[in-house]
Amino acid sequence: MANLDGSSDGGVDAGSSDPGPTDGGAIAGTTTVTTDAGANDAGSGDANSSDASTATASDAGTPAPAAIDYTVMVAIPAGINNGVTAADQATMLNAFGNPGTPDPGCGPSSAALQKLMKTASVGPFRVTGLGPAVDALTRVFAAVQAAEPALYALLGTQGMLCVRFVRGSTTNFSNHSWGTAIDLTINGFLTPRGSTTISQGLLSLCPYMLAEQFFWGAGFPTPDGMHYEASNELITAWKANGTIP
Ligand SMILES: [Zn+2]
Repeated sequence: MANLDGSSDGGVDAGSSDPGPTDGGAIAGTTTVTTDAGANDAGSGDANSSDASTATASDAGTPAPAAIDYTVMVAIPAGINNGVTAADQATMLNAFGNPGTPDPGCGPSSAALQKLMKTASVGPFRVTGLGPAVDALTRVFAAVQAAEPALYALLGTQGMLCVRFVRGSTTNFSNHSWGTAIDLTINGFLTPRGSTTISQGLLSLCPYMLAEQFFWGAGFPTPDGMHYEASNELITAWKANGTIP
């Protein structure tokens, strides 16, 4: 049941020790990916200019807030990942053990880990990942849908579970191997690994993810804006409170 998300490329990540090639390689069957940063961001236009004409008379006294263009590329600001850190290899191995047989195209999960995986809709799409991580993402996206429906409408994924090494490494598993990380697209666009600019939508997601103690890969030494993962703090807490057996 591994790899229902079709991600041969689920991400990379745990960054510092393995400066691998990009997270955004070719993915069979995926038509939305482009690695041409910014190329598909031009279409949304200037949202500010169009709002006034659509206001009805009854709205006249309450000007709508300026719409956010979630597809524009923006710099990674300081202060992200406040209070959380990336889940390092020792924490992951201690919590779960070996995740399975790594393969660049996503290898099979161990029998023990398979029992902890879950395939479900998290709102905008279906994923396969660690049960409590899938549940956390479901809460994240419900909050996004309520507060920022225009952002919610643009969300897509390049996958969650994928048993493989970090790109460029033959020793360090990607956290996708345990199904605790997810790669996200905004309006079909995948912010490439290594890009120092990221889709505004990925930035706008950060507070919602942080509320569930998810770490944003934009904070890696090699930024990986598409990537969010259950933080070291969250994995440690799950292990301590028995969420992870
Ligand atoms: Zn990733």
